[in-house]
Amino acid sequence: MSGLLEISGLTVAFGRRGARPVLDGVELSVGEGEIVGVIGETGSGKTTLARATVGLVAPRSGRVVFDGREVSGLRGRALRAFRRSGRMSYAFQDPLRALDPELTVRRAVAEPLAVAGQLDDAGSAARVDEALTTVGLDPARLGDRLPGAVSGGQRQRVLLARAIVTRPRLLIADEPVSALDASNRNRVLRLLDRLRTEHRMAVVVISHDLSSLAGIADRVAVLYRGRVVEQGPVREVFSHPLHPYTALLTASAPSVRAEKGPGAAALRPSAEPPAWTAREGCVFGHRCPFVIDSCRTAPAPAPVGQGRFAACHRVPRWRELVAQAAAPAAAQRPPELMAATGETREEAGR
Ligand code: SF4
Repeated sequence: MSGLLEISGLTVAFGRRGARPVLDGVELSVGEGEIVGVIGETGSGKTTLARATVGLVAPRSGRVVFDGREVSGLRGRALRAFRRSGRMSYAFQDPLRALDPELTVRRAVAEPLAVAGQLDDAGSAARVDEALTTVGLDPARLGDRLPGAVSGGQRQRVLLARAIVTRPRLLIADEPVSALDASNRNRVLRLLDRLRTEHRMAVVVISHDLSSLAGIADRVAVLYRGRVVEQGPVREVFSHPLHPYTALLTASAPSVRAEKGPGAAALRPSAEPPAWTAREGCVFGHRCPFVIDSCRTAPAPAPVGQGRFAACHRVPRWRELVAQAAAPAAAQRPPELMAATGETREEAGR
């Protein structure tokens, strides 16, 4: 199935002559009406991925194809026309910085329509009311307020109303719930789910909050230092991670783990870091307890079951090592794991 959004080999680098790579060969596909989560720790490249997808950052190589058309090569007038069309929209991470403090809620939400220039004043006003109502805000009560005069949860929803007012086919929401309390977080997550079911909108949710994504995403991509290390249906990835980094993330978020997976203690990095750099070999090598010599060659994402991909040379062997190490008898522990953790058989027996 060809997706609404197809990203292939996307590479972005900053600094002089691209000295600082931020994304490296990212592959991502998003279908119509699908919610795809992108997770990873701070600095993994999540926001750069969003910005490169909507054309705010120029990739060094790779392709972004949206609705059958390559948009990553657009420049100048063609790029501005595509962004103005509002068919793909981006809800920025920080509503306070993204909203002009001197524009009322109504005018802030109307701005993308004015840029697109497709509606007259009456049509635009009706569309703004519709967008505000969709996100659960009362246009009559809040429309004339400034962003500083509404609550944090309401501001987040104003930002979403602004992002959907052009009726985009794809919405990219960057950390939409990170600054919200539990009740506003649930409200925004339900809203994203409704946009998908009622409006067939595809949504990419960028988040470091696994439990939020577990409830709404269909699939998830795990980003580590600019590379997608694992991808697949959210339920399977969270309950049975196939990459050691995903296992580490889920071990720190027990609310999303459906099985008794490896705990954080089993995923401590080996005492001896590898001699090669992360740019040469596996990007996770310096934190991975299962690293071996062949990890000096960077693993490509490989299919590992229905709709799942993982970039690790040792799938599923590393999980067997963890399971064996958890066995009570020291004699059953695999020597290679004990070597990786610097543990002696005598110590293991204590
Ligand atoms: S390829 Fe090697 S270093 Fe990388 S995650 Fe897999 S086992 Fe660890």
